[in-house]
Amino acid sequence: MAEQLIVIGGGPAGWTAAIYAARANLNPLVVEGSQPGGQLTTTTSVENFPGFPEGLDGTQLMLQMRAQAERFGVRIQSGEVVSVDFRSQPLRLKLDAGQELLAQAVIIATGACAQYMGLASEQKLIGRGVSGCATCDGALYRGKSVAVVGGGDTAMEDALFLTRFAAQVTVIHRRDEFRASRIMAARVQQHPKIKILWNTVVDEVLDVAREEVTALRLKNVKTLALTELPVAGVFVAIGHRPNTKAFAGQVPLDDKGYILTEQTRTNVPGVFAAGDVQDRVYRQAVTAAGSGCMAAIEVERYLKH
Ligand code: NAP
Repeated sequence: MAEQLIVIGGGPAGWTAAIYAARANLNPLVVEGSQPGGQLTTTTSVENFPGFPEGLDGTQLMLQMRAQAERFGVRIQSGEVVSVDFRSQPLRLKLDAGQELLAQAVIIATGACAQYMGLASEQKLIGRGVSGCATCDGALYRGKSVAVVGGGDTAMEDALFLTRFAAQVTVIHRRDEFRASRIMAARVQQHPKIKILWNTVVDEVLDVAREEVTALRLKNVKTLALTELPVAGVFVAIGHRPNTKAFAGQVPLDDKGYILTEQTRTNVPGVFAAGDVQDRVYRQAVTAAGSGCMAAIEVERYLKH
């Protein structure tokens, strides 16, 4: 029997879509992936989600959205969607455990995940000093020197978070101006434990032979001068990649892999997308939640017709 609606993803977009769909009697099933709660669970305090003047923990926010969905009878299945067949009705989804699910409508809310620089040495040292998640691994670097790569809000947030543990934090940015919001950039620039290296990129992560991070070889992009910065860890915060591998060829994607939508509709009947998986511009918890709501309302209209 085909479900009326399957929501893929348990981040702010997925849970909001599920809450709205459940309240519209669509009896949705949420497939919650391998990182329940999504990117918000790798962040510290969420200070810009309206309604929480003191801020709140990202994981807590996700657990509350999940509990709210369960209160309205949303069913939850854990598993990773590995492939789909959207060529005809009912829509077909295959899970990593081999199970097949059928649905009349699907909301893809699989979010995005951290991007790495693409150096071979970086890849070899992931988990041995190279990290994509300061919140997860920061406490391992108590009293040590660490670096953060990037100039966006994530890099600022990571650098500030790491000052709680590390002796020194160096932010490495490829331009001479941060992309981050002014308030976050100012906090970083004024922090006594944070040093900023402008116009600089990581040329190599050292030391692969020792199987641990000992230093970074840095390149100044203006002078091309190479220098070495001794660090025990490097946190890569250079943006995100949408989680759309399972949907390639089944829904239209843009050049970076984001799902192309009009409002939240894809051009495939019954297939909708919400949150970071289709948003390369705003990528906020609150905008993801908002688009989850939009997707549920559009699904309701679609199923009615
Ligand atoms: P982002 O805004 O896209 O910033 C990525 C940064 O990494 C940019 O500074 C970029 O440099 C740099 N970069 C990209 N590729 C690189 C490469 N290969 N090598 C070196 N540097 C590279 O990503 P984000 O910081 O993850 O933020 C994503 C979204 O989430 C944004 O909308 C942000 O505002 C939001 N966010 C908000 C908060 C908050 O408000 N508390 C916290 C985290 C994230 P260029 O500047 O030169 O392009």
